[in-house]
Amino acid sequence: MAADLQKLVIQGGRVYDHDGDVHRPAIADILIEGTRIAAIGPELPSERTAGAEVIDATGHLVMPGMINAHYHSHDTLCRGLFEELPLEMWLLYTLPMGGHRSKREVRLRTLVGALESLRCGITTVQDMVGLIPLREDYVDVVITAYEDIGARVVFSPMVFDIPAVAMLRYKEGLPPEIQEMMGTTAAGAKQQIDFLDAQIKRHPARGTLHWAVGPFAPQRCTPELLEGCADLAARHDLGIYIHVYETRGQVVMAREVYTDYGGSFITYMDKAGLLNRRLNIAHSVWLDRGEMDRMAEADAGAVLNHLSNMKLKSGIAPVLDMREAGMRVALGCDNCSGSDVQNMFQAMKMYCLLASVSDPEPGPALAHEALSHATLGGARSAMLDDGLGALKPGYKADLVLLDMNDTAYLPYNSAARQLVYSETGRAIDTVIVDGRVVIKDRVVQTIDKDALRQEVIELMEGFRADFEDVVTSRATALPHLLDAHRRVWKADIGLERFVARTRR
Ligand SMILES: [Zn+2]
Repeated sequence: MAADLQKLVIQGGRVYDHDGDVHRPAIADILIEGTRIAAIGPELPSERTAGAEVIDATGHLVMPGMINAHYHSHDTLCRGLFEELPLEMWLLYTLPMGGHRSKREVRLRTLVGALESLRCGITTVQDMVGLIPLREDYVDVVITAYEDIGARVVFSPMVFDIPAVAMLRYKEGLPPEIQEMMGTTAAGAKQQIDFLDAQIKRHPARGTLHWAVGPFAPQRCTPELLEGCADLAARHDLGIYIHVYETRGQVVMAREVYTDYGGSFITYMDKAGLLNRRLNIAHSVWLDRGEMDRMAEADAGAVLNHLSNMKLKSGIAPVLDMREAGMRVALGCDNCSGSDVQNMFQAMKMYCLLASVSDPEPGPALAHEALSHATLGGARSAMLDDGLGALKPGYKADLVLLDMNDTAYLPYNSAARQLVYSETGRAIDTVIVDGRVVIKDRVVQTIDKDALRQEVIELMEGFRADFEDVVTSRATALPHLLDAHRRVWKADIGLERFVARTRR
């Protein structure tokens, strides 16, 4: 049936191969048939390429599309609104700005994040979207927006059955009205699992749509909900993504409150049947070494989000320790109001640099590893690594062309190192997802970008007014949250995740 498929040849680029020469990739042609890579080679037989559309990739690097393995589309319109606040205080503002919004806004915010992602060479986002309330029409809007723009999505609406205020250690000291501001309601476990199950059946995975299960965090999920998530993931053969040990407060909570589980969220998740090869824990800044070993043994992985972890004052995930433990790793860019960018080049560079400042000894070469985490690692986190994350025959045709005339490659010495340490996304001129050219000559082909910009500008007037209301109404909570935050920092947990400050 191959003859009926649309053919595309990417001609004469340097094709990045994880298993080949990562510094000087060979020049080759890539034949795409339909949605998949059919062949790669220096000289493809003309009978195979006959009738194909040709994209000239001379002077280009061709790399696999990157996979952002931790992302939330619900706050893309909050980009640039925050700077000073640690995570628990930032949530006070960003959570309400993501919930109870119009369907038009949900569509626009999804497109805004997807457009930036594609422009930066991210062909797949794992969207752990907060749909508040969890409704079918919102699900339809988000899935349609991704389809329209042509981005691949691992769709995983977040579920939780313990209210948001539970994220805070020492919440008991907060006045009731402040607790209410943080969020004191949540839907039931069964209701949410049934909802997700119904959505997965209503929109089965196909084309560029994939599913995963997204319990919010151990401290926000009862054992019943976590067990339901583990069962749902097993039934549909899906990955699981959950926020774990993002902040110091969360590890203090585990140690002081979850004493029935040895003070460990990993044990808590293990008891609920979650600690297995499907599990991916986002952040894991405050994971201890014993927990890393248990994660590695279970083939469970971490999704590192250095950008938001640093901006939101959470700390630095222990990259070298995880590496030593043999943990599976993927990379993410997290919220648009927490990082404030969807750019895996920054995430890869941080992975390497933060490993460098973790040990003064000569270290391992990490650039090619970062590239693998940003592609294959992300694919593996979604259980899709048999067809995503590499440029190989049989794999999905998700790829990115970078113009090596850019100064990032002047002079050109190493593809892996210059992609990680020098590239910003500036050199990207063509992006292909599922065999479809979505960015060509730096212009998005699938939507009207100018119309989107205009619609967002119009929407933002009301959005900013709503944001000002949230800021004003929540000001009284800040001193209380700061107090709880400082108590958390006084607790001794025997882990260090901050750098370069003389102890005060
Ligand atoms: Zn997150």
